[in-house]
Amino acid sequence: MKIDLISDTVTRPTKEMLEAMMNAKVGDDVFKSDPTVNELQNKVAEMFGMEDALFFPSGTMANQAAIKLHTQPGDRMFCDKWAHVYNYEGGGAAFNAGVTSHLIDGDRGMFTAKQLEEAVSGRADIHVPYNRLVCIENTTNKGGGACWDFEELKKIQKIAKKNDLAFHLDGARLFNALVAKNETPKQYGELFDTISICLSKGLGAPVGSVLIGTKTAMEKALRIRKLFGGAMRQAGFLAAAAIYALDNNIARLADDHRRAKRIGAVLESFSYISRVELIETNIVIFYVNDTIDPMDFIAKMESKGILLISMGQGKLRIVTHLDFTDQMLDVLIEELKSFS
Ligand SMILES: *Cc1c(COP(=O)(O)O)cnc(C)c1O
Repeated sequence: MKIDLISDTVTRPTKEMLEAMMNAKVGDDVFKSDPTVNELQNKVAEMFGMEDALFFPSGTMANQAAIKLHTQPGDRMFCDKWAHVYNYEGGGAAFNAGVTSHLIDGDRGMFTAKQLEEAVSGRADIHVPYNRLVCIENTTNKGGGACWDFEELKKIQKIAKKNDLAFHLDGARLFNALVAKNETPKQYGELFDTISICLSKGLGAPVGSVLIGTKTAMEKALRIRKLFGGAMRQAGFLAAAAIYALDNNIARLADDHRRAKRIGAVLESFSYISRVELIETNIVIFYVNDTIDPMDFIAKMESKGILLISMGQGKLRIVTHLDFTDQMLDVLIEELKSFS
């Protein structure tokens, strides 16, 4: 049995999802005549109580389009030092939008309103870049699937507004946070100028992300998506998978969270594990103690058919997902036990 815990992006479409894809009505989306893409965009905009939405081939492109539409070259974006938009998008914020990133020293990928307020001060000085955008990530990827406190987000939004900053949410795993904290998409729609969500992570679609915002913002995004080469033709086959995912795979994220917490509890009981970070959603970050080489641990697990990754500095990561079952959980726990 192969147990792939490298990411929640490794899932394959189920038979039912494939059927939904096969039955999709499609058209040329560059001419806005793909009914299934239109349906997905309307559905997501409505879910979040926002005006409009736009389908993208990847979360990276959706975030990059958002950064580009809110800024001019030379402007400054504020984000956590662990932000995906800064660390994992190939330097895209600098390359595509020409923005300067101001990194805030947060905790598990999350900063406070007070930290943002301190960071934005001094705007009138001609020496400094224009402050234009705040970008937050929920759940945080590098922060181990941590969820923001919604009250803190409201405070951050106030600071952003007061300082004329656009507010973007990288919500690649937002649905994990919504399920874990019992929050709603509309709460987030009220707070942010733009939100990106990923359909190909925990929700299990093979491809795709959606950017959500005002009509004006999405008109700009449409142009930027074309410029980035992300305008697709009969994308309705992919949108059908996304619609299926939204209709069927949100509530079940709680199973992924339960399994991740169980893995964490088991890991904590082993003497060869030095630390397990707090688990709020579907990401488990842990460290082996000094007597074990983390790469060796990964290789031994791989030889048993269990795949996980290193995030550097001794950090190991397991991500639970749709294709990881309770039966696989039992096998994983047995293998982890036999390692000790
Ligand atoms: C995965 C991810 C993205 C987007 O990644 P793609 O692979 O381009 O879809 C963006 N932000 C975060 C936090 C992510 O985890």
